[in-house]
Amino acid sequence: MRIDIITVVPELLESPLSHSIVGRAIKKGLVEIHVHNLRRYGKGPRLQVDDYSYGGDAGMVLMVEPVYNMIQELKSERQYDEIIYMSPDGEVFNQGIANELSLKENIILLCGHYKGIDHRIREHLVTREISVGDYVLSGGEIPAAIVADALVRLIPGAITDETSALSDCFQDGMLSAPIYTRPAEFNGWKVPEVLLSGNPKLIRDWQDEQAMERTKQLRPKLLDE
Ligand code: SAH
Repeated sequence: MRIDIITVVPELLESPLSHSIVGRAIKKGLVEIHVHNLRRYGKGPRLQVDDYSYGGDAGMVLMVEPVYNMIQELKSERQYDEIIYMSPDGEVFNQGIANELSLKENIILLCGHYKGIDHRIREHLVTREISVGDYVLSGGEIPAAIVADALVRLIPGAITDETSALSDCFQDGMLSAPIYTRPAEFNGWKVPEVLLSGNPKLIRDWQDEQAMERTKQLRPKLLDE
């Protein structure tokens, strides 16, 4: 899989994509993530990529031409399955979308900044729009890092014990059971007895029951879906 991220603040993406599971997946060659600075296509001596909005609203808007040129460059090199604009009014990201996107070959994540991007990009080039939730951030970089992270950890081999990703929350439409590690008792706080039983069937049943209970309590809507 290859992910191309277009941004005016590439620095914001450096750290989230170079450590832990994502960093290791890149080193192992399971995924390529390329961050492109939109300023490469900036106009004039100041490499301008934004301008005032028509209609006089406050806030700068990313211009159509640099974004168009950047996307054309990428499209001339390979075919993209999706060109995704990170946007607060897009479809709200969830594990189902992550699963679906993790099967794609090449995707572009386009990060807006300031007031947003010229709407013509959304009308003519973008194939999908994703939000990370109903709140507004300063730019699409953190949302893009969230999407990239969620996709990469699903690629076989990215997590050493693959069953680990499968037992995560939402993966089977349920929350996961509580987890514990050693010691079995701390400060008088005990790990549930059943987990120490060594009986895989009993443990599995307990985990299923807990998962159901937590889903009912915390995310009842998942059970309707
Ligand atoms: N004026 C826009 C908000 C711009 S915020 C509006 O009212 O909808 C600047 C950029 O941050 C956006 O272009 C988008 O790329 C990104 N962004 C902000 N909040 C986001 C969210 N919840 N999900 C995904 N991207 C977001």
